[in-house]
Amino acid sequence: MAPEKALKKRDYIGIHFKCCNLYGRIYKNAAGNAYVGWCPRCARKVEVKVGKGGEGTDQRIFQAY
Ligand SMILES: [Zn+2]
Repeated sequence: MAPEKALKKRDYIGIHFKCCNLYGRIYKNAAGNAYVGWCPRCARKVEVKVGKGGEGTDQRIFQAY
């Protein structure tokens, strides 16, 4: 565990906002257990839990409903 490194590394995932049909990216939250962001157009909140296996989620693009 290296908190400093974790902070420096801005992990993000690509996300498809279905509400406005556009793509963007959302960043990991402070706790590191989910990716959180907002649709750039309508500000809908999006949250994607980080997979149990740690950093790795197989998907790179998630969908926000
Ligand atoms: Zn939207």
